[in-house]
Amino acid sequence: MALRFFNTYSRQIEEFQPRDPAKRKISVYTCGPTVYSRAHIGNFRAYIFEDLLQRHLELRGYKVHRVMNITDVDDKTIRGAREAKIPLSKFTAPFKQAFFEDIETMRIKRADEFPAATDPRYVDRMIEMIDTLISRGLAYQADDKSVYFRINKFADYGKLAHFDLTQLQSTGRVKHDEYDKEHIGDFALWKAWDEEDGDVGWESPWGRGRPGWHIECSAMATALLGDQIDIHCGGVDNIFPHHEAEIAQSEGVTGKKFVRHWLHCAHLLVDGQKMSKSLGNFYTLPNLLEKGYTGREIRYALMRVHYRAPLNFTWKGMEEARQALTRIDEWLMRLRATAAKKIDKGKTGMQLGTQFEEALDDDLNISAALGFLFESIRETNRAMDQNEMDAATANAWLDWWKRINTVLDLEPETEVGVPAEVAQLAKDRENARREKNWKRSDQLRERISALGWEVRDTKDGPKVTPRSAA
Ligand code: AMP
Ligand code: ZN
Repeated sequence: MALRFFNTYSRQIEEFQPRDPAKRKISVYTCGPTVYSRAHIGNFRAYIFEDLLQRHLELRGYKVHRVMNITDVDDKTIRGAREAKIPLSKFTAPFKQAFFEDIETMRIKRADEFPAATDPRYVDRMIEMIDTLISRGLAYQADDKSVYFRINKFADYGKLAHFDLTQLQSTGRVKHDEYDKEHIGDFALWKAWDEEDGDVGWESPWGRGRPGWHIECSAMATALLGDQIDIHCGGVDNIFPHHEAEIAQSEGVTGKKFVRHWLHCAHLLVDGQKMSKSLGNFYTLPNLLEKGYTGREIRYALMRVHYRAPLNFTWKGMEEARQALTRIDEWLMRLRATAAKKIDKGKTGMQLGTQFEEALDDDLNISAALGFLFESIRETNRAMDQNEMDAATANAWLDWWKRINTVLDLEPETEVGVPAEVAQLAKDRENARREKNWKRSDQLRERISALGWEVRDTKDGPKVTPRSAA
């Protein structure tokens, strides 16, 4: 079955058609974090959806070249640096680092490149692109010295968002004083320096200033992936104006269709409202780790609902994620034990399905894919209960799991060389801790220790290592 995705541009499910089907190499651009504070788990819903997309494309044999930008200059970062009275780069550095730590904890694959908007290479390219847009009549410098994109000159403007130009509203990310613009919807490409920018600014043919947020992505995307990209992603809030503007700028410069497939994920909600910094209804990853959840539990909780359906964040949902992973872990342990059986009395021939992958082919239908996984767990557990599974079949299921786990990446971290008895004690201890049974947890720690191992609690769950000689 062919891969199909919902394309925001056409508002239809379309067969995935990369630019170069023969080579099976595809380019993916994903809008990354604005590093003015620690990203919240709403942001990570978007990044986990993109991770799932990349991993499934890879499962299907594509080689993915993915770029994720880091927005390290915009109104919010500048304001933050000013308030902290430190240079912009010093202000953004810890948030960049926190972002990389968080994606690692949640097992999100790193993009091939993480270009930063302030990198002089890209600033030069932004200036070049703006220059071309002006020369083509698609942009103009207004009296306030800022440069704006002239949306009336770009016939396709509004096609991604399916917007009528007359309904355009101004947004937070353009300069606030609108008087200088020809049209309220014209957006800033280059923002003239003002006092609030402090020492942030670059020289340009239009005077000192800084790039607008949208041109940053157009410049980094085309610089690293070329004029045409196979897939471009983000959250639905990126559709307008950000991605609409990216199309106008990029196509205005190259004259070529910028993106073949636009994919956007729905929001992570809290009590029906978008989780966001501005509403204050957010959790960061450390907030959840402090409550005892592990990176993979959070990964599962954010991944388990289809990316186009809004997902409500609840503690109950976190508990369900934990239970689901426990079921997977126990199932894997049983399968491994069955696979290791020397004497085989069981029957062969349980069917391994392809439904998991096929569900993901269908616009990344993870809910259906997981449904199939748990159905398989139920059936295989039943077979094992009745001693009807032989070692070869158990091994086949383990191989199947290995394959689908390249997409899910949900296996507990395996500590190489840890004996099964110690691993089981560590698991029992973890359960005791969850039940706040500290006495039992301490006893189990001692038993682990007596066997020559020690257990440490890390942000990604307990880790078992050989006991260091005291
Ligand atoms: P920002 O740092 O605000 O530019 O956002 C980075 C990414 O996170 C973008 O792709 C947004 O669309 C996405 N995003 C922000 N808030 C949420 C949310 N509550 N749920 C899902 N995605 C979000
Ligand atoms: Zn972007």
